[in-house]
Amino acid sequence: MSLDQITRRLRAAEKAAGRDEGAVRLIAVSKLQPDARVEAVLHQGHRLFGENRVQEAAAKWPGFRAAFPGTEVHLIGPLQTNKARQAMELFDAIHTLDRPRLAQTLARLAQDLGRCPDLFIQVNTGREPQKAGVLPEDLDALVADCRALDLPVVGLMCIPPVDQDPASHFSALADMAARSGVTGLSMGMSDDFEAAVALGATHVRVGSAIFGARA
Ligand SMILES: *Cc1c(COP(=O)(O)O)cnc(C)c1O
Repeated sequence: MSLDQITRRLRAAEKAAGRDEGAVRLIAVSKLQPDARVEAVLHQGHRLFGENRVQEAAAKWPGFRAAFPGTEVHLIGPLQTNKARQAMELFDAIHTLDRPRLAQTLARLAQDLGRCPDLFIQVNTGREPQKAGVLPEDLDALVADCRALDLPVVGLMCIPPVDQDPASHFSALADMAARSGVTGLSMGMSDDFEAAVALGATHVRVGSAIFGARA
């Protein structure tokens, strides 16, 4: 696969779903990829990337951003409270807000910094104990907390269990977003992004299908 092929498949999936061309943003997930592969995709003109770890992104992206203006980087991995400040300085969006304490920390930092990245709330739709994300029954309360703190929550994010049909998780997430009054839906990865587009994804997070297998 390549950026070109994935972009073509994405445009075809939008069309098949009756969605506008370009309605879905492609986040190229560059975690654990060699710099040369990331640079190749930047040279092809792509400007939206996803990273899992604050530390890795801090080492990689300031340089690439300087060399490729207009580059946007989103955090798609879990965020520890003690890395929140660095994350807010580094990323244009954070997809993994999942608890009230982190919301409070982000709100305090937003005051300090005078800005805040776009925020997605991660929902643990599969109720997996080892996985991050707020449980579905706790979502409304977390959304209310975020609104009270004036945080810019733009959408929801999920990572379906690997052994289940992702479509039911995507449609459940879309229902929750509609109920919460947010329009962003960060869902779909290399193996299932077309299904996510059919169910309303606004952001798909595709890594290995663009860059190849991770180290
Ligand atoms: C790694 C990762 C992806 C991309 O996975 P691929 O299967 O390589 O497309 C997407 N979302 C999250 C949260 C990830 O950690």
